[in-house]
Amino acid sequence: MTNEPSVQEQILTDYARMSLDDSFVFQCHQGLACFTRCCQDVSIVLTPYDVLRLKTALGIDSTEFLRQYTISPFTQDQKFPAVLLRMDAETKACAFVGTEGCGVYRDRPWACRMYPLGVAEPRSVTPTDRAFHFLLREDLCQGHDQGRTLTVRQWLDDQGIEEYEMMGASFKALMLHEFWDKTDGLSPEQMEMYYMACFDLDRFRRFVFESRFLQMFVVDEARAETMRTSDEDLLDFAMQWLQFSLFNEQTMKIKPAVLEARRQAAAADVRQATGSQRGY
Ligand code: SF4
Ligand code: SF4
Repeated sequence: MTNEPSVQEQILTDYARMSLDDSFVFQCHQGLACFTRCCQDVSIVLTPYDVLRLKTALGIDSTEFLRQYTISPFTQDQKFPAVLLRMDAETKACAFVGTEGCGVYRDRPWACRMYPLGVAEPRSVTPTDRAFHFLLREDLCQGHDQGRTLTVRQWLDDQGIEEYEMMGASFKALMLHEFWDKTDGLSPEQMEMYYMACFDLDRFRRFVFESRFLQMFVVDEARAETMRTSDEDLLDFAMQWLQFSLFNEQTMKIKPAVLEARRQAAAADVRQATGSQRGY
């Protein structure tokens, strides 16, 4: 057993807490010796919206994107699946990095946009415990203390973070849900459902439209039509589905006819069980 503080503990105790109006001096450019070094041997955790943007930019479906460009490591104490960008086994470089920089710059993941800023968010905000940003200073990065002075707010604007935060809000709520404190983890079937709904959107679309799903659940017709073509709308629906299926929240409605059929089947089971106890 070690008494070393975890990274999270270090962030809370050692890092200066920055508000949106605090500023820092930083500039990343091709002339630096470190250019693209931060795109090697690095753990980039992807959000569902990252996957959506990247697979769309590459013009491939989510299953293919996940197979080709990501890994999903799993540890014993992990409660839900995580997806990371795959680094090349030999060079350790991200598949998208080239001599000119990031090959998917317009659709680069949230974590790549944020760097060198990090964000720490408490599960529930209180007057004394609220989200803050902090500056990551890593030896390899030479972009600090030269170039532009920016506030945190300006950095977030420059990097297009607002759209990512908007699209990632329900996923964040899912991850911060109190359910995770009470469970030891998901069953293999739930893991698979979570992975599909969050990351493998094209497969989730087939699950919704090519199974009995729409016969079982009340889904507004206009919404269903939008979800056939809009990944953003489908992702929103997927989050709602996970809240229902994992947390038992009333975010979906089962059709009355399905409920009635279930009630009748349960009643028939009880009748049969009572009958066999009596020896009929
Ligand atoms: S996605 Fe782009 S910015 Fe992010 S690690 Fe890969 S090359 Fe670098
Ligand atoms: S290490 Fe820092 S300065 Fe160098 S390329 Fe990466 S982000 Fe830019």
